[in-house]
Formats: sequence, C-alpha cells, structure tokens
Amino acid sequence: MRRAALALVAIMILVIFLPAAVVSLARDGRLPQPGKQGAGSSEPFTDRGPLIRLYRTDLKQVLELELEDYLVGVVAAEMPASFELEALKAQAVASRTYTLRRCRSWGGQGCELSPEPADICSESTHCQAWLDPGHLDLGWPEDKREELLHRIKTAVQETAGEIATYRGEPIEAVYHSTCGGQTESSHGLWEGGQVPYLQTVPCPYCIHSPHYRTEKLISYQALADTLPGTPAQPVTGSLPVEITLFTPGDRVGRLKIGDYTLEGKELRNRFQLPSLACSFQVDSRGIRADCKGKGHGVGLCQYGADGAARQGQNYHQIIAYYYSGAEITVLYP
Ligand SMILES: [Zn+2]
Ligand SMILES: [Zn+2]
Repeated sequence: MRRAALALVAIMILVIFLPAAVVSLARDGRLPQPGKQGAGSSEPFTDRGPLIRLYRTDLKQVLELELEDYLVGVVAAEMPASFELEALKAQAVASRTYTLRRCRSWGGQGCELSPEPADICSESTHCQAWLDPGHLDLGWPEDKREELLHRIKTAVQETAGEIATYRGEPIEAVYHSTCGGQTESSHGLWEGGQVPYLQTVPCPYCIHSPHYRTEKLISYQALADTLPGTPAQPVTGSLPVEITLFTPGDRVGRLKIGDYTLEGKELRNRFQLPSLACSFQVDSRGIRADCKGKGHGVGLCQYGADGAARQGQNYHQIIAYYYSGAEITVLYP
C-alpha cells in the first residue's frame, strides 16, 4: 500500500514537471542562441513569429507586425516574384534570419535610423526593403497580380519559422543582386575577422542576370570634379590607373588613380559603380569601368539562387552553397 502511494506521488511529480522539462529541452535543443544577450532574453514565439517593430522610412512611422506577415512585404520588395519558387524560399529564409538577428528582443541592435525604438527599417540601403503587401507597386501586370503575390506568400508560408544557422547560431544572412561569377568574402569588404560561412564561392548561376555585366564611363570631367587635380581633359598616358589590392573574391580592394588612392567602398560610392568586380581602361573619354554583377557580392547571390533553382536545386542546397556550410533550423511553429 505504502509502495503504491509512493508510486502515485512519483507519477504525480512526473505529470506536473515533465511537460515543463520537455518544453525546456525543446527550446534548448531547437532554438539557436539569440545574439548577444543570451537565451534568457528571447521572447516566446507564436506560430507567426515574434512581433517586430518596423520603421517605415517613407511614412516615418513605426509599425508593429508579426514576422511572417512582415516577410511577405520583404520578399516582394527584395526579389522579382517571377523567380523560381526555390529561390524565393531561399530569400524568405535569408530575410527571416537577417531580421531575427536585428530584433532587439533577440539581442539584436535594432535600427538606429528610427527616432523611436525599432528593430528594422524599410530602407534597402540601410536594413531591408519592405513594401506594404496591400499596396504593392512593383509594375506587375494587373492580370498577373494575384498569381505573383501568391508565389511570394507560398515561399514565406512553406518556410515558416525556418532560419539559416551555422553551428546552432543564426547567421548574418547578407545577400545581393548578382555576383557576376564569384561571390565575395565578408572580410574582403568589411571590418571584422573571417566569417566561416561568408566565403567566396564560384557562381555559375547568375549569368542570366541583366546586371551580369555593365560598362560605365567615368568622364574626365567627373574625375576632375571628384578628385581635384586630375586632368579634366584627356592627356594621353598621363593618368595612371592601377588596382593595387584585390579582395579574396577578385574585386577591387584599392584603386590608384593618378595621385589618389581610393578604397573599394569609396570608389564605388564616388563613381556609382554597380559592383567592385571591375577592370579599368583609360581612353580618350575617361576611365572605362567594365564591371560584373550588382551589389557587394557577399552571401546569397539572388540571380544565382534563381539560376541554381532552374537547374533543380532546392532552397536547402542554395542556402548551404552561398552561406558555406549553413543549414536550415526550424524555430517555430
Ligand atoms: Zn535600418
Ligand atoms: Zn552569382
């Protein structure tokens, strides 16, 4: 009798405490550690993800919305809806991961452009582009509108709760339009050490991009305006232009123009180059820049993702390729 009573107590203890233990194990086992503040700072997820505070730079307003709803507006704004579904899914995973890393409730820094606390803004050059899915103005033909929006929603829904992780940590899921044949290593462009999953990889998949190759002329006048002292008129043989440093991904790290030495980022900003995968030739009109790709070249190549998907790759493979060795982790539901 006494033994039966003990067994009953043991069962009651199990019934009361086991579910909590299981939940705790599930969280520890499945959730990667959020950024800098430790696991204790993460908020529980609903099946629509955490609430995020989006700073709309067009209206200068902060909007609160669920992550999954937010992502529909991001994928629509960041990738052509006509892309292969597996490419759209890779974009959804990358954007979800990118967003989570910025969430303050997950130890992220938020977006400092916003006058009041916000996790992320809708400015593509600062955080991540976003368009209100109810008022999309992407030049879609009216008769295709429903179908294209449905593709975007499908990509988000079919990857709901999935992020890209490396050794259990959400990755810094940066992406760009077109790499032009070879992606860039993060340490070739940005400060900070090597990031194991942001390494240069060959990309044979983005050749169909309209941005694969661009020729840009930097006129003598533009040179003289931007770099005082350089000749405003062509003087044969008098303007030495030389790439003095290459990045790991074969881009311009440093360029010498006459007496000036420009770092890659400065060069790109000053002369509005589409990328830094450029070669240069001086002729009678100025400096001709022959550039491959569009964007910084680090991480996911969007046109490359589309090309890889056309060749039958799925979004798991695309993510693991462009973020070397990363894998998909399910956070919710
Ligand atoms: Zn921002
Ligand atoms: Zn590419």
